[in-house]
Amino acid sequence: MEKHKCIYCLRTKYESEFNKEHVVPRMMGTYQDAFVLSNFQVCQECNSYFSRQIEDKIALDSYEGFLRMQFRDKPMSDGRRLTDSRIRIIGNEGVFKGLPFYVLTDTSNPYRIRFEVEPMVGIISSLEANEYIYYTLENLPDATKEVKSRLKKAEQPIINTGIDRELLERELEEKGYLIGKYNYFEKSITDFYKEPEFMTIIEMKIDSFMRRVCAKTVFNYLCHSRGKEFVLDSSFDLIREYIRYGQWSEELWFRYSKGPVSSVEMPNETAHVVGYMWYPENDQWILCGSLTWFGDITYIFKLGISNQKVQQLNTLNSTTMACFNNVDRTIIEDDAVHIYGGRPDEI
Ligand SMILES: [Zn+2]
Repeated sequence: MEKHKCIYCLRTKYESEFNKEHVVPRMMGTYQDAFVLSNFQVCQECNSYFSRQIEDKIALDSYEGFLRMQFRDKPMSDGRRLTDSRIRIIGNEGVFKGLPFYVLTDTSNPYRIRFEVEPMVGIISSLEANEYIYYTLENLPDATKEVKSRLKKAEQPIINTGIDRELLERELEEKGYLIGKYNYFEKSITDFYKEPEFMTIIEMKIDSFMRRVCAKTVFNYLCHSRGKEFVLDSSFDLIREYIRYGQWSEELWFRYSKGPVSSVEMPNETAHVVGYMWYPENDQWILCGSLTWFGDITYIFKLGISNQKVQQLNTLNSTTMACFNNVDRTIIEDDAVHIYGGRPDEI
């Protein structure tokens, strides 16, 4: 039986130890003419490491997970909840300012998602702006004199977003909030749904998990479009080790920006754009990867220095990319002459 080398762990293995690797992880969508590495490029061990140890961890716990709930080609089943260690969504106006939301999939909603709130108690913090500070029952501080006088003047001094009323009243009494008469809303969030739109702040954390998924997606695409021999070159060893083992090198870099790269024409506004391009750095041409998820967030990073191609730059198209259309599930490939930070004929 023939043996082959895996493009990630570089180990030589039997044919039976390889399986299919999707260029774009399936959690981000599936496509009619799906780009797949199925010709003994990625071994089973690497493949399942990527899906279990990396992709599963961020699939429903990332900004991309939030986009995926809304825009993936196939809607997700109802009631899946977005975890909040990499993304937090917080109301940013009026009564809901400072109130953390969580997100559930909901196909009955045009946006395919629904916002819910944890049971919290809001204590009025500004009478003029009608703003509150929200606490969990456990974190509610003792009422100060100042707070008490504000409560007396407020029309709605306290908001309850779902804490058991008896429990809440006991706690309010203990902490000194129950003074005279006051009103509070129960589950006022239901009123809030009458508003078609509202302002939120989205806090996101981009950690190594997401970066590695991005780097792997582009590296897969590089292998798909340039072939296995090209990506086995040692000039890609640093990014390879980062993708496979999470080992970061100071020689690499990674940047991101909100929105798609401006010069890219996308087949629709929620497509993924996966590509690689030449970039001048310290008198060398390096190959860098670019990836836009759901037309919303773009990552650009260094893949490696590809010496064997530098002389040919003037005759090569400088950018190679594929657009994964999340509406009709097709893929368009494109070569373009545009480059980040300069043009190839300037050197
Ligand atoms: Zn492997």
